[in-house]
Amino acid sequence: MQGLMQDWPLLVSKIMEHCGRYYGDQQVVTRSIEGPMHRITYREVEFRAKRVAKALLAHGIKQGDRVGTLAWNTWRHLEAWYGIAGMGAVYHTINPRLFPSQIAYIANHAEDRILFTDLTFVPLLEKLAGELKTIERYVILTDAGHMPKTTLKGAIAYEDFIAAADADYVWPRLDENTACGLCYTSGTTGNPKGVLYSHRSNVLHALAVNAGDGLGLKNSDVILPIVPMFHANAWSIAFSALQVGASLVMPGMRLDGASVFELLETEKVTFSAAVPTVWLMLLQHLEQTGAKLSTLKRVAIGGSACPQAIIEKFERNYGVEVMHAWGMTELSPIGTLAMMKPEMAAWPYEELLKVKLKQGRPMFTVEMKITDDAGRELPRDGKAFGRLKVRGPAIASGYLKGEGGNVLDADGFFDTGDVATIDPDGFMQITDRAKDVIKSGGEWISSIEIENIAVGHPAVAEAAVIGVAHPKWDERPLLICVLKKGMAATREEILTYLDGKIAKWWMPDDVVFLDEIPHTATGKIQKMELREKFKSYRLPSAAA
Ligand code: AMP
Repeated sequence: MQGLMQDWPLLVSKIMEHCGRYYGDQQVVTRSIEGPMHRITYREVEFRAKRVAKALLAHGIKQGDRVGTLAWNTWRHLEAWYGIAGMGAVYHTINPRLFPSQIAYIANHAEDRILFTDLTFVPLLEKLAGELKTIERYVILTDAGHMPKTTLKGAIAYEDFIAAADADYVWPRLDENTACGLCYTSGTTGNPKGVLYSHRSNVLHALAVNAGDGLGLKNSDVILPIVPMFHANAWSIAFSALQVGASLVMPGMRLDGASVFELLETEKVTFSAAVPTVWLMLLQHLEQTGAKLSTLKRVAIGGSACPQAIIEKFERNYGVEVMHAWGMTELSPIGTLAMMKPEMAAWPYEELLKVKLKQGRPMFTVEMKITDDAGRELPRDGKAFGRLKVRGPAIASGYLKGEGGNVLDADGFFDTGDVATIDPDGFMQITDRAKDVIKSGGEWISSIEIENIAVGHPAVAEAAVIGVAHPKWDERPLLICVLKKGMAATREEILTYLDGKIAKWWMPDDVVFLDEIPHTATGKIQKMELREKFKSYRLPSAAA
């Protein structure tokens, strides 16, 4: 027997429509690429998104066509995104931090027909244009007054592009499984692979993430998504915020500590989300200036493991609650959130901190297990660690054009490539990327755990641990540190600091200091590059 409920497709245009109608007066504030602050209401954002849709139709864009965006978080990017997806085309967010050759590869692979881009990237695109085979025209996210002289094909200012269209448009009723968005994973090996979101997966993910114990966004929130829209849907904020009509503060291109602080205060931001490196810059700014945070209540931190020092500083020094989250592009992207259990409210802070350091529990829609290499499920005892696998309606079933082959196991679970434990309460903790685990004497050492503790040292700004070849143990950990500006520390001081905080056999065999640690396009430490750099490094213990 079938249920007797209406067939109401889960479309992202429904989010835009609901937001425009019921939260029409709420604002999207942007630090514009041209310079000044810019303010617009959601009502106008929807009008303009409809004009984007009509302008795309006028250009000949059809349902299923890919339209690229190479852009920072701004109101124009948001309008373009809803306009593209709403009319049935596929928004393809491109990460500008990728190597130019990778940008060309993915734009060609996706067969983008139009590219919306910021003024910032015009010079880069002019150099690349010869390699971008499928792009028919470039829409520069600015107005005629700021339009640069450019050789880009069919270049037009965004404001002129949409001025030719009116907003007399009804969002089409699409099948909810229609492709909606495309985001390539910045894999460290091989070519990037395309994750193709559907309308249904985006809407379900936004609903799931927005539950009370999850991001729990509200109409009264003012949200600063520092995490870029090109990093997996800005962790769903581009959908979740509009679903509840929360105001947005779009940071544009300036993400340093002082710029973020200024936005938090002047726009009275209550919630924000970013990777740990961004928060480190903000916290360093606060420490240097002695400034306080007056309106910020909560932050979501993910993308890499959140060090204990960040959680403690936010919560103890600034009264800002930290929500540690884990996810990946293939998961739309959030998989787990460090949602506390009710009985934990009475726990001493030190105990609570141990739980907050874990990546958290899956929200509804995500199933999770850990297995050994043979695919056998491992116990959820908080000790056994194995390959982390997930299943759910907002998790990739494969990559665009079949790249990477079959990515699901026999039960339909996707292998995340992460190694993790799951405790009896369901809290998952990432111990490593499978390829970064340090294998010492047949046992595994978690590089993430050592890094987390090392950045708690007052002089350490950033830390990375890699495995270095060892004649007796196969591999032993090498700790690489970047010191805070004006601070000093020796190898011995760092090792003494770690002593007692980790198992003896996990102690790094050596500590080296670098001015800078290389990062990937999504802000993660480039372990491959570090391993390459220290490939011939001779540990003192190896001489024995
Ligand atoms: P991306 O697809 O660029 O978002 O990268 C996803 C990967 O980032 C995951 O597979 C993890 O290895 C890592 N990651 C994301 N969030 C966390 C976290 N909270 N702790 C540790 N690793 C994380």
